[in-house]
Amino acid sequence: MKPRRERHGLVIVNTGDGKGKTTAALGVLFRAWGRDFRVRMFQFIKHTGARFGEQRAAERLGIRIEALGDGFTWLSKDMDRTTALAVEQWGRCREAILQGDDDIIILDEFTYAMHYGWVSVDEVIDTLKQRPRTLHVIITGRYAPQELIDFADLVTEMRMVKHPYETQGIKAQQGIEF
Ligand code: ATP
Ligand code: MG
Repeated sequence: MKPRRERHGLVIVNTGDGKGKTTAALGVLFRAWGRDFRVRMFQFIKHTGARFGEQRAAERLGIRIEALGDGFTWLSKDMDRTTALAVEQWGRCREAILQGDDDIIILDEFTYAMHYGWVSVDEVIDTLKQRPRTLHVIITGRYAPQELIDFADLVTEMRMVKHPYETQGIKAQQGIEF
């Protein structure tokens, strides 16, 4: 591994309506793990204790993936609770970002918290500015706020060209979606 001082920490955003945002972040996590990077992933939205393929793989590899969600979404009936949860969860991510114990931190599906106004984009950018210089942060999810796109170093928009659910009604499958 290169000395830490030679690395340029990047803010990476995977957004858009096409599939591949979370899995691209997982691909980087896997690659970096192979380089002995200290990697950590926080998953918003997904239920705490979720046992998707990525959680199972991470467990075997000794990678920390923390599913923070309480299954809360923008469809929640109790918006005050949703907001409070999002703020609390962002607090944990913020602490990890500022702490400097990791080389890569992924905030999966975090764009929604900003898009729906549960967490302030300005505060997120402010925290990213204060992070250790070598820390890479990857944020995924649709509707990435423009301010975040402007601030980020690397932004990719996944665009849906064809999806089997749309064309054939094929639902989410093990190993491909979860
Ligand atoms: P992945 O986790 O597979 O990389 P993603 O993070 O880009 O996908 P999300 O927006 O988080 O995608 O959506 C979660 C799931 O919703 C994806 O696994 C995807 O297959 C499914 N999905 C995405 N677009 C559509 C669509 N147009 N119709 C139905 N399902 C979709
Ligand atoms: Mg996703």
